[in-house]
Amino acid sequence: MSVAAGAATWLPAGRLLSAPGDKSRDADLRALKLSGAETTIERAAVQDLRASLSGTLLAPGDEGYETARHVWNGMIDKHPALIARCAGTADVVRAVTFARERELLLAVRGGGHSFPGYSTCDGGLVIDLSTMRTVEVRAHDRTVRAGGGAWGSHVDAATQKYALATTLGQISNTGVAGLTLGGGFGWLSRRFGLACDNLISVELVTADGRVRRVSEHDEPDLFWAIRGGGGNFGVATSFEYRLHLFDPTVIAGSVSFPTAQTKDLIEFYATLITHAPRELSVDLGLGGNEDGTPGAHLNVVYSGDAKSAGKVLEPLQRFGNPLQNTIRPKSYLVVQAWFDPPPVDPMHHYLKGGFVSDYSSGLVEALTEFRPDKQTEIYFQNSNGAVADIPQTATAFSHRHTIANMMLLCEWKERSQDEPGRAAARATWNKLTPFTDGYYVNLNDADPKGTDNNYGPNFSRLTELKKRFDAQNLFRLNANIKPA
Ligand SMILES: Cc1cc2nc3c(=O)[nH]c(=O)nc-3n(C[C@H](O)[C@H](O)[C@H](O)COP(=O)(O)OP(=O)(O)OC[C@H]3O[C@@H](n4cnc5c(N)ncnc54)[C@H](O)[C@@H]3O)c2cc1C
Repeated sequence: MSVAAGAATWLPAGRLLSAPGDKSRDADLRALKLSGAETTIERAAVQDLRASLSGTLLAPGDEGYETARHVWNGMIDKHPALIARCAGTADVVRAVTFARERELLLAVRGGGHSFPGYSTCDGGLVIDLSTMRTVEVRAHDRTVRAGGGAWGSHVDAATQKYALATTLGQISNTGVAGLTLGGGFGWLSRRFGLACDNLISVELVTADGRVRRVSEHDEPDLFWAIRGGGGNFGVATSFEYRLHLFDPTVIAGSVSFPTAQTKDLIEFYATLITHAPRELSVDLGLGGNEDGTPGAHLNVVYSGDAKSAGKVLEPLQRFGNPLQNTIRPKSYLVVQAWFDPPPVDPMHHYLKGGFVSDYSSGLVEALTEFRPDKQTEIYFQNSNGAVADIPQTATAFSHRHTIANMMLLCEWKERSQDEPGRAAARATWNKLTPFTDGYYVNLNDADPKGTDNNYGPNFSRLTELKKRFDAQNLFRLNANIKPA
């Protein structure tokens, strides 16, 4: 990641010598190689690539470049040398080949929601799939195919028309690509497993520029690797998922409590989520309540039979002295957009996360001492239920026997707060790290304990497959697996 750090502005070399207002397409481009060394991309090569794409190629100075270079997290402020807005698989093949032949630093962008900003870079080429969002539902065989740049909302809207659904993330503008390749938790993962557990096939452009259908029967090694191995193995241009019958109305809402009840709430929650039926998904947040006061809240989604809802939710409805309870029937599509931030958020976001396997007394104590403020929250996304039905080594995603993904979520407005904000977050997180059991590749930046913490017992097979399919480590802006 060191090559991508720093705030260098990647302007075309020739442009510095030209009159103001000259277009970047008249100049050679300065760029960065995979090694971190500087290189020049000749104007003619840029023009050739531009002419070969059905989509758009953007360089600094081009109209649309400024908007296209921004990703979701306002903290990330990078200037790629080129952004290839691909219109289809053929464009992706050309862009991958261009990067490989020139050994260019390469980033791949689906929804752009990576917290650490892996889907962009300084000085490299960005393969941007944001216009590849077609979603095709085959209601009769309960499957859906989504383009590599689709968001959760695109897939949910299309599938819910037929009262069908599959597991996707809790924020509607998260890309299905990054989410699925790293695992994919959501309100439905206790019931239907992870997003990657519902994959039937993926169209993948590998580092050699080949387009491969990847499924249980075609390229089974790759199919194993992309279900949890993140973007390490190629560019996924489309995803085919299995769908489930799913009523468009769920029972959902938040129940919030004052800080004084936090300890009892954590203990209650730990028992509830261990024994709850799979149709019930409950997350716990220790942060500001809706009225701005510090506190704790449960976010609840019940997607089972409405007749059983009263009984299932009864312990939850009886617990403690809540400040507010908003549980009621809602559209699943509304629930999926419940916490939506803007797709490009000016707020600066920083996150630390790790799985927990139990709510030990040590963890409960550490959490009780935590004092949330306006910019900091600890959030537990439940990770049990159907996720654990699949053996640990059956897919690259290995964290199958945990109870929650614990996240420390921090945000602030000003760039001047980046350093102090990150330092404060790390200090808080250090107190929680002893209770974690592996990291979720979709959330963290570099794993301080080594990458096998991300991939567990699957790490060594992944390094072998990385060597086989991407020995050059072209796809490295991710929770990177170095080739064996
Ligand atoms: C607000 C918010 C809420 C979230 N909620 C959830 C949640 O409920 N459940 C959950 O599991 N996760 C959640 N996440 C984490 C999310 O899964 C990751 O951020 C994920 O990487 C987002 O995918 P993306 O396509 O938007 O990301 P991008 O930023 O586009 O990419 C992320 C990574 O995936 C790679 N990648 C992206 N597209 C492709 C592709 N087509 N082919 C190959 N590689 C690709 C990129 O190179 C990069 O390494 C959330 C994140 C945010 C910011």
